[in-house]
Amino acid sequence: MARILVTGGAGFIGSHLVEFLLKEGHEVLCLDNYFTGSRENLLHLRDQPRLEMIRHDVVEPVMLEIDQIYHLACPASPVHYQYNPVKTIKTNVLGTLHMLGLTKRVRARILLASTSEIYGDPLEHPQREEYWGNVNCLGPRSCYDEGKRVAETLMMDYHRQNRVDIRIARIFNTYGPRMALNDGRVVSNFIVQALSGKDITIYGEGKQTRSFCYVSDLVAGLVSLMNCEEQTEPVNLGNPEEFTILELAHKVLALTKSASTLVYKPLPADDPVRRRPDISRAKAKLGWQPQVLLEEGLKATIPYFAEKLK
Ligand code: NAD
Ligand code: UDP
Repeated sequence: MARILVTGGAGFIGSHLVEFLLKEGHEVLCLDNYFTGSRENLLHLRDQPRLEMIRHDVVEPVMLEIDQIYHLACPASPVHYQYNPVKTIKTNVLGTLHMLGLTKRVRARILLASTSEIYGDPLEHPQREEYWGNVNCLGPRSCYDEGKRVAETLMMDYHRQNRVDIRIARIFNTYGPRMALNDGRVVSNFIVQALSGKDITIYGEGKQTRSFCYVSDLVAGLVSLMNCEEQTEPVNLGNPEEFTILELAHKVLALTKSASTLVYKPLPADDPVRRRPDISRAKAKLGWQPQVLLEEGLKATIPYFAEKLK
């Protein structure tokens, strides 16, 4: 049994990770400021004596005794990370700095939840970890993209300078139950719109692509990466099946049997045109690959939103 800190543990991915780690028998400290996460996501675990909830903001330092840190704290949806861009940068830079300081002090191991966004609007397809990316450092997404790039830099520098034991997961679009109703990302938007008979909002022409990973696959990938022998270099975690946003809309409409109509809205600035992970490294180093097809994952997610909308 290990004592494990999960920052952002009350969020969408974090809450699934916390639940998984508790099932594995670990002691879990969930640290969150509840900006986009909620205590409701962990309410079903409230009687678990091995779970401790800490209300804290990672832009401030914290002292804890732990063996491992999964550092997830950061709003992930463009709507939320652009709400207060300066705070997003602080969360990524100061937050990661503080978690690295803590890791160093207690000689723990830290995993950073980085993102496919560090590849920006990629000129290489699919994206391998060796690709340096195509990021606009001035645009509205840069508080997040560049914030995560600096977070990765901090991880590497603490590793080289202080021999801190690091893991960097580059997470691609992930979806599933416990995304907030107002999350604003495409899968939750489309399901909520379809279930409530509202128009499905397609940004641009809907020809841009994404690759969608179901949350249980992602959690399995994070845990294997954390516990593998040694893996300092970043690892892509995502589902390599690629879909256009229009294809996603049609799948959601079919599965929800919704009569909603598609409406076209302007494409947000710097919206990446294509995105798909090359997961050769994860397969080779972790023996990991996603198991859940998009259709199955959507079928598991739709009832959650239907319940939330009641
Ligand atoms: P989320 O918004 O549901 O969860 C983020 C959590 O972090 C929330 O509980 C929020 O309250 C908390 N948080 C935010 N700022 C904080 C701060 N300053 N101090 C303490 N807590 C703070 O998002 P998610 O989808 O669960 O993403 C989790 C992590 O995974 C994020 O770091 C995100 O960048 C990364 N990621 C997610 C995806 C995805 O598709 N879901 C893709 C790439 C990377
Ligand atoms: N998108 C859309 N309608 C929505 C929300 C998003 O067409 O209601 C598009 C968005 O422009 C992007 C893709 O879906 O091309 C994925 O957006 P999301 O915000 O989920 O994630 P990210 O852009 O960070 O990959």
